Amino acid sequence: MSDCIFCKIVNGDIPAKKIYEDEEVIAVHDIHPIAPVHFLIVPKLHIESLQSCSVAHERLLGKMLLLAPKLAAEQGLVGFRTMINTGREGGQEVFHIHIHVFGGGNSLPKI
Ligand code: 5GP
Ligand code: ZN
Repeated sequence: MSDCIFCKIVNGDIPAKKIYEDEEVIAVHDIHPIAPVHFLIVPKLHIESLQSCSVAHERLLGKMLLLAPKLAAEQGLVGFRTMINTGREGGQEVFHIHIHVFGGGNSLPKI
């Protein structure tokens, strides 16, 4: 997707603070962090949202989710919150699926 910000980050066309990369997934610090540590786990494959996922994406989604605690620990977090905004009404702004992982500092507000 040529006009997708996260595809551009995956392709190295725009810079990002990368904390992890393998053949299928990257993780980068969010450009506008909402907590002392806030990063995004992003598949290299352009998938619009969780609503566009099917059983074909089961393994990839599982892999992304399991990266959350691993990378959070590497970032020094003892606890963290995950979030997947889905669809415009779900607060999604970048239509390339990603898992937010954030935490650090004082405890997060109850939701
Ligand atoms: P969404 O609302 O779609 O779940 O979240 C998109 C996230 O991507 C936002 O938290 C926003 O700060 C982040 N973001 C938007 N543009 C960029 C960018 O160019 N680089 C990085 N690292 N994060 C971005
Ligand atoms: Zn994309």
